[in-house]
Parts: sequence; structure tokens; C-alpha cells
Amino acid sequence: MSTLRFHALKEAIGRKTVVVTEEERRSSLFGQNVFNQGTMLQYLTKDAYNSVIDATENGSKIDRRIADQIASAMKDWALSKGVTHYTHWFQPLTGATAEKHDAFFETIGNGQAIEKFGGGQLVQQEPDASSFPNGGIRNTFEARGYTAWDPTSPAFIYGTTLCIPTVFVAYTGEALDYKTPLLRALQAVDHAAADVAKYFDKNVKKVNASLGWEQEYFLIDRALADSRPDIVMAGRTLLGHASAKGQQLDDHYFGSIPNRALAFMSDLEKECMLLGIPVKTRHNEVAPNQFELAPIYEETNLAVDHNSLVMDIMGKVAAKHNFKVLLHEKPFAGVNGSGKHNNWSLSTNTGVNLLGPGKTPMSNLQFLTFFINTIKAIHDNEELMRAGIASASNDHRLGANEAPPAIMSVFIGEQLTAVLKELEGVTDGKLSPKEKTDLKLNVVGKIPEILLDNTDRNRTSPFAFTGNKFEFRAVGSTANCANPMTILNTIVAKQLVDFKKEVDALIEAKDLKKDEAIFNILREYIKHSKNILFEGNGYGEAWEKEAKKRGLSNNKTTPEALKAKVAKKNLELFEQMGVMNKVEAEARYEIEIEEYVMRIQIEGRVLGDIARNHVIPTAIKYQNMLISNVTGLKELYGADFKKYGKEQLDIIEEISHHISVINAKVNEMTQERKKANALEDTEQKAADYCNRVKPLFDEIRYSCDKLELLVDDELWPLTKYRELLFTR
Ligand code: ADP
Ligand code: MG
Repeated sequence: MSTLRFHALKEAIGRKTVVVTEEERRSSLFGQNVFNQGTMLQYLTKDAYNSVIDATENGSKIDRRIADQIASAMKDWALSKGVTHYTHWFQPLTGATAEKHDAFFETIGNGQAIEKFGGGQLVQQEPDASSFPNGGIRNTFEARGYTAWDPTSPAFIYGTTLCIPTVFVAYTGEALDYKTPLLRALQAVDHAAADVAKYFDKNVKKVNASLGWEQEYFLIDRALADSRPDIVMAGRTLLGHASAKGQQLDDHYFGSIPNRALAFMSDLEKECMLLGIPVKTRHNEVAPNQFELAPIYEETNLAVDHNSLVMDIMGKVAAKHNFKVLLHEKPFAGVNGSGKHNNWSLSTNTGVNLLGPGKTPMSNLQFLTFFINTIKAIHDNEELMRAGIASASNDHRLGANEAPPAIMSVFIGEQLTAVLKELEGVTDGKLSPKEKTDLKLNVVGKIPEILLDNTDRNRTSPFAFTGNKFEFRAVGSTANCANPMTILNTIVAKQLVDFKKEVDALIEAKDLKKDEAIFNILREYIKHSKNILFEGNGYGEAWEKEAKKRGLSNNKTTPEALKAKVAKKNLELFEQMGVMNKVEAEARYEIEIEEYVMRIQIEGRVLGDIARNHVIPTAIKYQNMLISNVTGLKELYGADFKKYGKEQLDIIEEISHHISVINAKVNEMTQERKKANALEDTEQKAADYCNRVKPLFDEIRYSCDKLELLVDDELWPLTKYRELLFTR
């Protein structure tokens, strides 16, 4: 009997729900472990407080004397909560978060010690950063990087550590993390959007991009997950036959949440509350043992930090509940994978959501301006948007009839489609008073404050307008949202800068009124961007054909998709918007394709191991049982044995066939890996891993899964899909 699998099953089936109590209201837990404005008011001098607020809101620098005060106050606050260590908390390009803890504790001679934390330690650190991915930016002789405090994201306590969100940059100044380019992109969109918003309201000083992410994940019993080498090593199953029941009955989605999962969620939510992460929604997702967590949206930099933090603490909380969280985009074949919708909008310091329709024709014209500019930005940069969500794991999901395809398009709904159609007919140049009134009353004025299409959502669209925000649905569940959010905010910033120039030029050249000029430019944008609008079924083959006709890209694999990140046009875009220079952008590209190669390489090795060391020996064991059965039959019945042993003989042959396929394909895969590894050029290497190594996975898997169906259940060593997905 296969011991590990059955031990794990026994453990999993016998689990009791871990009891989670709610002693305090969520609202009173909220932000208890965050050095937020309330806490700062208590602990900081007025000067220090104002200086942090000014840094948060206007990006001003905090001077060193004040930084000392802030550090000292943070330390006092942290010590009062039993904290012993501090860390700069950052997001290197591994995609995970990084931390290196230092104790507050310092010796002062004479055998005495104190707790110390100064402005210097708050503001800047030099972690030994040589082992983080850098895409060749840092030479070994200058392997230094430093982390620098980001005062726009508040410090927080996790466990007994004070965590200070920081950026991570090379000594030569290049960004080595996700946060730095994001902050630059947010600044670019702030300036560009505020300039355009001033057409409508002179009081607009600042525009914030908001992000509300929806995190999907699987929750698998820890013993069962740990019994599978593929889940442990690659975060997903590389083989395993589908279980008889999957998601076809739709009985999990929005169903009542299983007790153990609910206890995990409550515990996680409590942690989130303490950390000031405003989680609000929880529910079952489509696949068995798949769930979703979503907070109330926040300013994008903060929301990204919160998502990274959540992904980290989910694993820790899950361990307490004997679960393992799988964030992988496709942990199980045959049932839905996980994504992370990124809900995005722009709002002004005056409290207006620029992507929300308003009450007056003028506010609706403002809405249409931002709405249409966003559509044009996506149209002009669809390939870059696709690149922003590319990863080895997300490739499994995009276009797999459950998630949006690899083709970018924008869904806007019937009502807004009709509005754009009207606007397309606006007269060129000056508008007659009648046309103006007509537009204001009957077109712009008629956009309802609440759009009906809110509810009519097309789930197959990668980028959908949902009433007062755009929802980027193609983002993967393991992604650091900073990557797609940097791209989205950069392209929108660039588009708004261009728009402003064009409107101003038109006002100048043709002596048009502001609103006339805006109508004129928007009309041209609508005509120009039509090809990106799509309201139909994004999963269908017909759309692939149609999209091709329209000239939209359809980059199905990561190596293909990533190339857009270093296309000349895009390098210039990043440079022009001050988001990344050429060195930074190229380094990121290098890191991402290297990561792709490594992921496929690891999967290939693990699959080879499992196929050879688990599946083949098990199949042989079972085949031997059949052989001795047939030999016995022969002894009993002599020449007649075939009459009674026909099925056994068939299975013996079938097993031999699958064993030989597996063996041959694993050999072939190993050879292909060797050849690919010998390539100098990373791009070529990634292409080979994608086109020569990866396709063999399916062939190996097919035979392994067939053997799973043939071999005695008692012998099968790998925990099965039904056990992984239906044990709760
Ligand atoms: P769903 O898409 O699952 O039906 P909702 O659209 O209600 O759910 O909300 C999903 C996420 O979108 C939440 O995180 C919510 O806070 C966020 N959201 C709502 N309004 C906005 C907005 N104006 N800008 C950005 N995010 C928003
Ligand atoms: Mg959504």
C-alpha cells in the first residue's frame, strides 16, 4: 500500500475545525498594528506629523532631523506592542516580498544594552542584495543595493517585527523592485490626469489611481498538498486524472463556505484588520476548494502593498488551520484556475471619480473624456498590456475557456456603445449652438448616473468597464499587481498628456471653445480605437479570427508576449513618462524571461521525477500482480487460460505501452532541456523551453493519467484529484 498518500488522507479526514473567536468588532481591530495617521498624531510632534503627511500627499522630502524623531516615535509605539525587531519590507523582482530582521537591541558597553532605532535606520538600509534578480544591472564588483523608506505606505507590525515599506534600488540608481516604477507611474498619471481634470474643475490638484484587487486561491488540506511533490515544488499538479465530479454541477460557486475554510477566512480577515487591510468580501469560487477574498479599493501603491502582504500572510494563517494556500493560476487541470481582477479608477483630491458618470452634462463630459482616453490607451498599447500579465503560470489560464483570452479588448456595454456612436457623428470643427445643446441634453446629459450595464458583465472580457471603474481581469493570481498597474497607469498618463496637447492645439488653431475642442478630439479617438472594443464572447474561436482581422495581437505564450516590454516604442514610452529608463526596462525583461525558463525547467524536472520514480514503478508493481494472476490462471486452465485472463492480458499490454511512452518522452524532454540549457541567448532559450520542452509535459501526463485509471487504487502513490479537491 502506498503509505504517504493514505497517511495523509487519514490525517486530513480526521481534522477538526480550528475555532476562531471574534472578541472585538472588526472596526475596532482595524489598523491597530499600523503606524497610521491616528497613531502618528499620538506619537509624533506636530512638525514631524505634518512632514509625513506632506510627504504622503505631495511627495516632499523628509529631513533627517525629523526622520530621527519619527524613528524614535515608531520605536516607542512598536515596543509598546511587544515588538523586538524591525525590517525594511520590499518587493524585489522575485515577485515575493523580502525582509531581513534586525533587533532594536544594541549594546552600549559595560555589559549594558538598550533598544535603539534612529532616522538613519528608518530612511535607508543596505541589505546584502547580491542574490536578488537584477537582470545584469549590478555587476558583481558593485553588487550593492539599498532600500529607502516609502512614507506613502505606512509602517506596520507583523508578529514581533516592525515592517517599514521601502523601495529597493541599485547604488547606481536603477530600480530593482516593483514599487519604484509603480510610484513613478502613479506620479505620471497624477500629473497628466490632474492637468486634464482642470479643464472641468480648476480646483483639482491631485489625482489618485485606485486599485481594488480580487484574490482567488485554492485551499487544500496541508497533509494532502504536502503528499504531492509537484504541489510542493511547483505549486501545481503536473499530473493527476480528473475526478468524476469536478465543477460541472456548479455546486460550489457562492455555495455555503465549508467550516474549516470559513475558520481560516475569519482568522485571515482578523489579521488583515489589524494590518489595516480593508478586506470585505469572501466567497466560494467556481472550482471545488477555490475561494476569493476582496478588500475595499485603496490608493494603488497601498493596495499593491496590501495584496503582497495578504499573499504572504495567507500562507502563514493557512498553516494554523492545516491548509496550504495555492495561489498558482492553474493548480488543477480540468477545473477553473485563479485570477486576480484589478479594479482600477482615477479620483481627484476634490472627491470625484473621473471614471464615474456624474449628475450634470459637464461632469459627464469629464467622465467621457477619461473613459475614451483609457480606451484609446488600451488600443494603442494592447500588446504591452498583454506583456504586463505574462508569466509561465498565467499562460495556463489565458484563453483556457475560463479566463479572458490572450487578446486584449475592451468591453463597455450597450449603453456606452450607443453613446460613443452618437459622439462619432459630432461635426468637425465648430459646433452649432443647436448641436451643442443637443449633445449636452440628449447624449452626454443622458448618461445615467448608474449604468445599467453594471450588472450585464461580460466575464469573457479581459478589460471591462463596470459602471465606475475598469476591471482588468486577465491578471494572474500569483502576480504582483504592481506590474500590470505600472503599465496601465503609464499608458493612460501618456494618453492624457497627448490629449491635453491636442485639445490645446485645436483651441489655438481653430479658435474653438474648450468643450468643442474636446468633442472634436474624442470623436477622432473613438474612430481610431474602434478595433479594441468587443462585446461578444471572448472565449470563442470566432473572436480569435475576428481579432486577427482587426490586427490585434494574440501572443499566447509568455516568451512571445514579453517581447513588447522591450519594443522600441515601449522603451521610449517608459523613458518619456519617467517610469523606467532603458537599462531598467531591459533588465526586467531579462529577469522575466529567465524566470520563465526556470519555472518550466523546475516543472520538467519534477514531472520527470514523478513519472519515473513514482508512476512507472507503481505501474510495474501492478503489472506484476496481473502477471502472477495470469500465470496462476495458466496453471489452473492450461491452454484455456486466455479465455479467463483476457482482460488482464490487455491491461498488461496497455501498461507496457504507457510505460514505454513515458520513458521515451521523459528521455526526450531531458534531451530537449539539455539542448536548451546550452543556449547562450536567453530569448532563444525561453522559446525552446516553451516550444520544445513544455509540449512534452502533456504527452507524459497523458500516459501517467491513463495509468492512474488502470492501476489498483491501493497501490497508487499520488494523492488523487478527488481527494485534493473534495476533502474539506
Ligand atoms: P465583483 O467584480 O466581484 O462583482 P465589485 O465590482 O463590487 O465586485 O468589486 C470588486 C472590487 O472593486 C472591490 O475591491 C471594490 O472595492 C473595487 N471597486 C469598487 N469601486 C471601485 C473604484 N471606483 N475603483 C477601483 N476599485 C473599485
Ligand atoms: Mg470583479
